[in-house]
Amino acid sequence: MQKTGFVYDKRYQLHDTGDYHPEVAERLEAVYKGIEEAGLLPYLTLIPAVPAKPKWIEAVHEVAYIRRFEELCLCGRRTFDFPDNQMCCETYEVASLAVGGVLKAAEMMMKGEIDNAFCAVRPPGHHAEVNQAMGFCYFNNIAICARYLQQEWGIGRIGIFDFDVHHGNGTQHIFEEDATVLYYSVHEHPSFAFPGTGRAFEKGTGTGTGYTRNYPILPGQGDDAYDKMLKEDFVPAFDEFAPEVILVSAGFDAHEDDDMSGISLSTAGFSRIMKTVVELAERHAGGRLISVLEGGYSIRRLPELARDHIAILLGKDV
Ligand SMILES: [Zn+2]
Repeated sequence: MQKTGFVYDKRYQLHDTGDYHPEVAERLEAVYKGIEEAGLLPYLTLIPAVPAKPKWIEAVHEVAYIRRFEELCLCGRRTFDFPDNQMCCETYEVASLAVGGVLKAAEMMMKGEIDNAFCAVRPPGHHAEVNQAMGFCYFNNIAICARYLQQEWGIGRIGIFDFDVHHGNGTQHIFEEDATVLYYSVHEHPSFAFPGTGRAFEKGTGTGTGYTRNYPILPGQGDDAYDKMLKEDFVPAFDEFAPEVILVSAGFDAHEDDDMSGISLSTAGFSRIMKTVVELAERHAGGRLISVLEGGYSIRRLPELARDHIAILLGKDV
């Protein structure tokens, strides 16, 4: 069995998005409930949040953006950059704790204290740009983790797999000129779906050309389309790149019971995805894998999705 870290902290629930918002604290309660009720907690290394060192947030985001976020948050503004980025007085602090929790998991993995980890953090991160909040995201947790692993631990090649149903525009833009980070996103497109980027011809720029890969899935598709993606495109791409660490933007909003998309992925379909990612991590990265929660809004389905996700990281049969 693998030693799996679980980043979870009650303070992640302090980020209050108001009364009519899908990205709510109950999501984390649902994740925790699924893992607890399956009896998996005793197998996990619980990792509480710590605030991120500013230098790591600054490794991705502009200082002026970070200051603007902090100031607007502390002076009581309720939205940031876009109306769907609702916030409260604690949002800046919680966003820093989200980054810090992910970095702590990465540090423990690099020290050999854990093999892999799932970080149940809020707010999510993959839409956050260098200088702009977007789509419920403020700091790009996964991008900051990649830079931390490279700069603090000397990791060369990092593979990021983003299976959130929305395209991770922020992560793509941060690494699109960078050949050391392979960003692979599978998402719904074309549709009314946010954010509208992530077409198949977006493959990176300059020396990063070929190190951004987008696999759009048509609305109405589900398990068959994802199985095809894994077999014909994702696995060959990651086998060729041979990442030294794999990071996962784990969004569960492609689920058939999630209202945020027109994609109909089953719970078993999510498990096949994660098993494939774990196999790739074992083949190329010594099992090193950090998974970070992005979207996923079905309070009813999140418990089973988190349960299976964690069980696969532990190396249990699902
Ligand atoms: Zn999403």
